[in-house]
Amino acid sequence: MKPMVITNALIVPMTERPQSFKGYVKIKEGLIAEVGGGEPEQLGKDEAPMDAGGCVLMPGLINAHTHLYQVLLRAVWEDLPLFPWLKRIYGVARALRPEHLYAGSLLGCVEAIKSGVTTVCEHNFLNPHPGCAKESVRAIRESGLRAVFARTIMDSGEIVPECVKESPEQAFRQIEELIGGERETSAHQETSRLAFRTGPNTPPINTTPDLLKEIIRFARDKAIGISAHVAESRAVVEYAHEKHGEGGVVTFLQDFGIPGPDSIFAHCVHLSGAEIAILKATDTSVSHNPVSNMMLGDGVAPVVEMLRAGVNVALGTDGAASNHSQDFFETMKAASLLQKVHHQNAGIIDSYTVLKMATVCGARALGLSSVCGTVEAGKRADLILVRMDTAHTQPVNDLFSQLVHCVKASDVDTVIVDGEVLMRNRQLTEFDERQVIEEAKKANVDLMQRLASLSS
Ligand SMILES: [Zn+2]
Repeated sequence: MKPMVITNALIVPMTERPQSFKGYVKIKEGLIAEVGGGEPEQLGKDEAPMDAGGCVLMPGLINAHTHLYQVLLRAVWEDLPLFPWLKRIYGVARALRPEHLYAGSLLGCVEAIKSGVTTVCEHNFLNPHPGCAKESVRAIRESGLRAVFARTIMDSGEIVPECVKESPEQAFRQIEELIGGERETSAHQETSRLAFRTGPNTPPINTTPDLLKEIIRFARDKAIGISAHVAESRAVVEYAHEKHGEGGVVTFLQDFGIPGPDSIFAHCVHLSGAEIAILKATDTSVSHNPVSNMMLGDGVAPVVEMLRAGVNVALGTDGAASNHSQDFFETMKAASLLQKVHHQNAGIIDSYTVLKMATVCGARALGLSSVCGTVEAGKRADLILVRMDTAHTQPVNDLFSQLVHCVKASDVDTVIVDGEVLMRNRQLTEFDERQVIEEAKKANVDLMQRLASLSS
């Protein structure tokens, strides 16, 4: 990979204090080699220059919770609360084929890249066929994104089709195969862009206590983290209370040692104060998914309360079936505005905090703090250039507020992962965007026809 120097950029490094400065970034062997103010003293003759005039250079955004293939299911089931909606989502398993996962995940990756995302946490939960997870992984790998692939497990639940209920042994065997496959594929690379996790999908509605015991044992044994949907709606908390006599989902999971520094809990909308204290004490991270929570009418997550308690809160889009997009700038704006209106206090959350949730906190949540999330020498070069010279971003009076509240995904000009340029001037470098869209449309038609034939 050729060394590169990005010049003429307004750099937002997202390091310890809020700052921005005009400067340059040198990239060598996938790493940020140097960050400086002004112009570099001299360009190495083998360094490829990239002019970032008119752009902000910042860390790539980190989507801490999504289901990429669900772009095939945008706006399919509208106006439903969580449980009836979830029943339909789970029902998709009866028609889902590995080729749907590949085509959908690839389109999801394209949308993520075009929105300035460089790392995704793919929470994978419908596995009627071993090829489903494998094809998702293949799409992510081909996209060039950095990813944490959380292959989760379900073993119970009235709304879960039999074809996706697994014994721990079955599921663990498949996860081991995925991890083994990645080692083989990336054996020639110094670092892999792909890491794995496991987890219970939506405890306790599709997870027995026995499965939780097995999951924590397996995760510790393999030294991998955990991803789970936690306390997304009031109905899930009520289920935990009725079935297990627990006050909440976090207290239920605490009995099995699931909270911890390698765990990320998506949603956490309905928590008690004591549960927030458990998240802090165990160093558990949360992915806040404001657009999905609003779309499903779940409620408002206690983001301000969690931040005040010192909990690490990242941001996620969630899948497009409950969002309906993967636009990460939209998610940042929604995260900011939702807390302001909920607390009826415009000053309750500041824009720099939201930018941190989208970068630094996301990296920490996924165990990638030493890898990405800031612009500083020694980290992998996961960077984006965002146009700030448009009609809807000029004039710039408050850079951080305008990054959160004015910028749109379509302003992302360039996306770099591991020093590799995935998009430049909004053109993807690795594959044909039009073809990805056409293949996803075909997969959508096929999936819908299969679903219709099951219900007729
Ligand atoms: Zn989700």
